[in-house]
Amino acid sequence: DHNSFEQVMATIKNERIRFVNLEFTDVVGVAKCVTIPVEQFADCVRHGKWFDGSALENIARVAESDMYLYPDLSTFTALPGTVRPAPTIDTRLQDSQDDGEVVARVICDIREPDGERFEGDPRAALLGAIEEARSMGFKYQVAPELEFFLLQVKDKKPVPLQDDPGSYFDLSTKFTVTIRSEMVHALQSMGIKIESSHHEVAPGQHEIDFESGDALRMADSLMTAKYVIKAIASQHNLYATFLPKPFYRTNGSGLHIHQQLISTDTGKNVFVDEHAEYGLSEIGRGFIAGQLAHARSMCAILAPLVNSYKRLVRGYEAPVLVNWGRVNRQALIRVPRPGTDPQTSMRIELRCSDPSCNPHLALAVMLRAGLDGIQRKMTLPPAMDENIFLQDEGERLRPRARLLPATLGEALDGMREDTLIRDVLGDTIYEGFIDAKSIEWTEYRQQVHNWEIERYLPVF
Ligand code: GLU
Ligand code: MG
Ligand code: MG
Repeated sequence: DHNSFEQVMATIKNERIRFVNLEFTDVVGVAKCVTIPVEQFADCVRHGKWFDGSALENIARVAESDMYLYPDLSTFTALPGTVRPAPTIDTRLQDSQDDGEVVARVICDIREPDGERFEGDPRAALLGAIEEARSMGFKYQVAPELEFFLLQVKDKKPVPLQDDPGSYFDLSTKFTVTIRSEMVHALQSMGIKIESSHHEVAPGQHEIDFESGDALRMADSLMTAKYVIKAIASQHNLYATFLPKPFYRTNGSGLHIHQQLISTDTGKNVFVDEHAEYGLSEIGRGFIAGQLAHARSMCAILAPLVNSYKRLVRGYEAPVLVNWGRVNRQALIRVPRPGTDPQTSMRIELRCSDPSCNPHLALAVMLRAGLDGIQRKMTLPPAMDENIFLQDEGERLRPRARLLPATLGEALDGMREDTLIRDVLGDTIYEGFIDAKSIEWTEYRQQVHNWEIERYLPVF
């Protein structure tokens, strides 16, 4: 599904595209873009488009830095009508054919002025990890489950949606189902393959599941999906949020990621061994062992907000222990029972990640952590399995299982100690990420929260 330059130019003409968004992602996962009039596009493909590369550093930005955006033509696609900017109500009501505002998006690689790949580009970090996998004979495929809340906007503030009280997999005929279908349609029209969508446990909470596919393409698609979902929600006067834990005592939103390694030789799923326990191969066991070994140090990348750690608590189907199992929702890694076609259904699901993460960085560290387990032949501890997760047994095993970080501060400490994670991200991203997140953590730590006042002031 690769676009040639000629194909892209034909699309521009046929779809009457007027502007192109040159998209990239900063270290903390915020979508960025430079918009160019379409007349500039051919030159941009040849020579890149200048921008201030310090935009990648988010709040840790210091000096200006000259960088160039180079479009990855295979990602070029028109934005669906529902996602295009609509300056006034009037233009929104016009036929989109004549509104002259057709916008396309293309994901860009970031290069230095001399044409070298910039190591501070999150996409480059993922490409590096993918290259490592390829050198071992593997292709990395993932299928994310993206959870989010639709909120009502009252007095300009997002509040829980009163009118969407469905729960887990409820078949509802509420308006949110129509909105969700609109989101799925928009994503499909951009070439993003969706497996299914459903209502989640909490009121107003929904999930969209992606078809398993190439990791780089998926990271790009996740960035796109987040703004498509937000844009469509806002057209219905709703606010879509990917905040991991918007409400106390209510399930949070995760971004579970199902992973597969495919042999570049045979095209077979190398996690499959039908004769082994759980149908899981030695390679699969090594991959899980590697992710468990690096879990505490990659957690800041996978769950990057202060708020992320309010999701990773007991009782809300989110993981708290660094362990693995088959059906236990509290396990960090789950190996779902393979169905009648193990080649497609054998997957390793990682569950601590949440939708606020930078997907390029998340997939990069997950992949390299797993590969490290294979390379170093790490041994996998026994599964915390269905017979064990009875409460008492769980309690008995707890002292032996390591916990995921309880705060962003703890997660950053873990990240500082892991040289593999530094190597995967490269110095620029590693340091930039830790700087930006340390500022965030320090700012939060200095706050005096309501809970402290209510709990302590009457006593002390
Ligand atoms: N919402 C849960 C979480 O925070 C996951 C629910 C599910 O298993 O799909 O991870
Ligand atoms: Mg879910
Ligand atoms: Mg899941």
